[in-house]
Amino acid sequence: MRALAINVVKKGKQFMKIQSALRGLLAAAATAVALSTPTHANSIKDAQDWLAEWDGGPIPAWITDNYYLPGTETLAIDEIRVSACGTGMPANTRKQAATCFLVETGNGEVMMFDAGSGSYANIVALQIPADKLTKVFLSHLHTDHMAELSGVWAGGWISGRASELHVYGPSGRLPELGTAAAMEHFVGYNFWDQQTRAANLNPIPGNIIVHEFDYKGVNQVVHDENGVVVRTIPALHTGDGPVSYIIEYAGKKVVFSGDTFPTRWFLDHAQDADLLIHEVFHTPQQLVDILGFVPPVAMTVGTFIHTSPEAFGKVVETLQPRHAVGFHFYDIGSVREEIEAGVRNVYQGPLSLAQDLMVWNIRNDEITERMAIDDPDAIPAPTSAPIPAADPNNPAAPYPFTQYILDGGLYQEMLPVMNPRLDAFCSKYNFCGVQGADWRTRFQQ
Ligand SMILES: [Zn+2]
Ligand SMILES: [Zn+2]
Repeated sequence: MRALAINVVKKGKQFMKIQSALRGLLAAAATAVALSTPTHANSIKDAQDWLAEWDGGPIPAWITDNYYLPGTETLAIDEIRVSACGTGMPANTRKQAATCFLVETGNGEVMMFDAGSGSYANIVALQIPADKLTKVFLSHLHTDHMAELSGVWAGGWISGRASELHVYGPSGRLPELGTAAAMEHFVGYNFWDQQTRAANLNPIPGNIIVHEFDYKGVNQVVHDENGVVVRTIPALHTGDGPVSYIIEYAGKKVVFSGDTFPTRWFLDHAQDADLLIHEVFHTPQQLVDILGFVPPVAMTVGTFIHTSPEAFGKVVETLQPRHAVGFHFYDIGSVREEIEAGVRNVYQGPLSLAQDLMVWNIRNDEITERMAIDDPDAIPAPTSAPIPAADPNNPAAPYPFTQYILDGGLYQEMLPVMNPRLDAFCSKYNFCGVQGADWRTRFQQ
């Protein structure tokens, strides 16, 4: 079996932090600890500075009250945590990935709603172990809602996902416009990647299982497992196909609009929501000023293809959720204030205009809004079991090196310089190469 070796990097530092965090939580539970409250303002920078110095001891209340420290909080059985893993626009930025919301339930379900460009970095920052993230629901097939599938698929594969990746998404007006067709092409687009990885890693996580459902379904159940029911309603956004999602767990309800102009279906089926997430878009003037749209395009995109601030306000004012969340705009300059002013012309209730890594905990007595502490050194969270190798009894990869590449490219004199480190590794693990062959012979046909 010959293919590129994939470096599987174990997560020493972050793993130690998580271990320390768990020890810290246990210690905090065992003893009444006087928690320090800093005299300075509790900014996210303060929280990041605290994290950089954290020794794994008890987590002070000013952190847990105001910030979410990924990987350290266990949900109550009837609790839901929703995290914004992307809130921005199709051209994602360092500050904002494109659309992505992560839903975690108290019984351990983890579901990703949309995988917008750049969002996997936020999944990593949120310290979601790859073996937990196996279900992605797509609202529609615009890249700002699905382009990061590549990151979820391959990033999760090398980070410990043990099973196939399940992708849920709508059909289209024609078969070629649906999610199943898109995933067929996704597999083709990633064929070389899949073949080379599958030769060295467990091949199962490289498979995608598609759950395509009728985009016209109204309140149709597309997922009913582990106590979590997911329903869809059609959305109204640049042609047939897009949907909005309704997620129900433990008597609680989260609604995610995807991209849509407000619809009657939404008003009918998003009632009694605990957390109502609906897009709220730039004003036409902002589209002209920020994105350079010509006025006719700005008018169409800002009023009919998406939801204006006032229309968002009307939706949530009508539905009166416990907490409303708006997303889908560049959070720069005065944009947030202008959008909030538009919403507040119509709606005065609980509201978050989402930023990346904003986190909501939905409990019976309250819904909290906090920011996750973004550790710039975070790498994929450790999984519960080591990442298995490919089955050595599998047939060899169908596309090994040709003799042309081996004879012409292999720099034989390079091998001895690697010997001391690799000999030590061989003796430590009593393993020197594939199927017992010394690694030095690996390139020799
Ligand atoms: Zn869209
Ligand atoms: Zn969008």
